[in-house]
Amino acid sequence: MSDLRDLYQQTIIDHTRRPRNFRPMPDADHHARGHNPLCGDRLELYLKLSGDRITEATFTGAGCAISTASASMMTEAVKGRTIAEAQLLFEKFRILLTTPIHENVSLDGLDKLEVFGGVREYPVRVKCATLAWHTLEAALKRDDHEAKTE
Ligand code: ZN
Repeated sequence: MSDLRDLYQQTIIDHTRRPRNFRPMPDADHHARGHNPLCGDRLELYLKLSGDRITEATFTGAGCAISTASASMMTEAVKGRTIAEAQLLFEKFRILLTTPIHENVSLDGLDKLEVFGGVREYPVRVKCATLAWHTLEAALKRDDHEAKTE
C-alpha cells in the first residue's frame, strides 16, 4: 500500500510540474469548460475527433495539484480512443475513486490512472480528480455550458 502511495504522490507531482498536453487548441472541434466550485479548479478542454475517435486532447486552466495532474493524465489516456472507450474509462475511473477497495470490480484498462486510487482516502478531492472527466463528457456532448462537479 505504501508503494502505491509513493507512486501516487510521485505521479501527481510529476504531472503538476509538467502537465502534458497543456495548451489551447484553436482549431479544436469540441470544447468545454469545467469548474469545481468546492476547490476553485477551472479548466478548459479541447478535443479533435476523427469519426468517433479522439485524435487530440489538450487543456488549459488553473487548479490544485490533483485537478491538474488528473487533466494531464486524462488527455494522455483518451487520445486515440473512441468516444465509447473514453466513456468506459471514465466509468472505471469513477468506480476507482468512490468504491471501497474490497469490493471486487474489474478496473482493467485504467493502467497509470490507477494511482488515483489514493484519492479515495480524501473524499473532498474526488471532485478535483473527476473534473477533467466531467469536462470531457461535456465536450463530447458539444455542451457549451460549463461542466460542474456538483
Ligand atoms: Zn482541486
